[in-house]
Order: sequence, then C-alpha cells, then structure tokens
Amino acid sequence: MNPEPETIAEMLDRLSEIVPDYPSAGISFKDLTPVFADGQGLRRIVDEVIEPFRGQFDVIAGLEARGFVLAAAGAYATGTGMITVRKAGKLPREVFRDEYTLEYGTGTLEIHRDDVAPGTRVLILDDVLATGGTVGSAVRLLELAGAEVIGVGVVLELDGLGGREKLDGHTVHSLQLV
Ligand code: AMP
Repeated sequence: MNPEPETIAEMLDRLSEIVPDYPSAGISFKDLTPVFADGQGLRRIVDEVIEPFRGQFDVIAGLEARGFVLAAAGAYATGTGMITVRKAGKLPREVFRDEYTLEYGTGTLEIHRDDVAPGTRVLILDDVLATGGTVGSAVRLLELAGAEVIGVGVVLELDGLGGREKLDGHTVHSLQLV
C-alpha cells in the first residue's frame, strides 16, 4: 500500500524552522526560508496559496521581502503581473504611503502611484499573518490606488493575534494555523 501523501501542514512542519526570541525576546519567529529553498515545497505553497483565488485576480501584490518570493512565483505561474509593496524609501517615483504597527515594531509601506490602474483586481500574498498590521496597510495602499483587493493569501497564520479579524471583509486563505 502507498503511504498517505504528506499534507501541507506536515510539509510545513517538516521544513520550516521556529526560532525562539527572534528578533526580540518573546517572539517565536516562523522561518519559511527552508520551504522556499525546497523545490517541491516552494511549488506547493505557491500553488496552494493562490488556488482559491484562481481566475479572480489581474495582478499579485507581494509584501517586502518574503512576500515577493510568493508573489513573483504566483504571478509567473498564472501569467499575471506583480506589484512590489515596499518598505519606506525604496521606490524612486511618486508613492502612496501608509504607516502601520506589527508584532514587533512599526513600519511604513509604499507603492508607486501608477503601479496599479483603478479597478485592477489584486491578490495580496505574504509569508506570515500575525497581527494583520502589515497586510492591512497593503490593503489600504492598494485601495487608495483604486484597486479591488479580492483576497489575501498567507502560508502561516498565527493564532490568537487577531490578524484575520483586522482584515474583516476580506477573504483570507492561510495554509496553516499555528
Ligand atoms: P503583522 O503585521 O503583525 O501581521 O506581521 C506580519 C509581517 O511580519 C509579515 O511580513 C511577517 O513576515 C512578519 N512576521 C510577524 N510575526 C512573525 C513571526 N512570528 N514569524 C515570522 N514572521 C513574522
């Protein structure tokens, strides 16, 4: 008899690393870089994170930096474009800017004003949803540009931090709740 195929949660448990007290005391950092470094792992998380949204988006927005990995791969796989949602000061032309709070600090995100045409249907991807501050900021930026955020996809969703509730009204798809 064939063994049962590995579930996505089993694959993530096998490949991802948990780093205690990083980047500061009390934070349990979920490091997905070994999943990115694994050929089957990368393909599987990208395919599964975009799956419920197939056919519903024109472009994928990735959040700097680990969201870029997922968004670029997903955009390539679906023949769509990619928007880079960047940390402050990286984009050379006129930007929309939004300040937000995250699990361990504050930040500012920016997009180029002309990267998204009004009415564009956007899927947002990132590696980890914690408090939802980062994704919430990206939603505000894209909506400011006139885009329609059709959904949010993340690999890991941290339980008990209220991220999903903060994104109330938007469809959130996570591959594993941890
Ligand atoms: P938040 O804005 O609180 O939802 O935080 C999400 C952002 O911070 C994502 O871009 C994650 O990459 C990163 N992040 C927050 N908490 C963690 C964590 N415990 N492990 C790994 N990444 C995290």
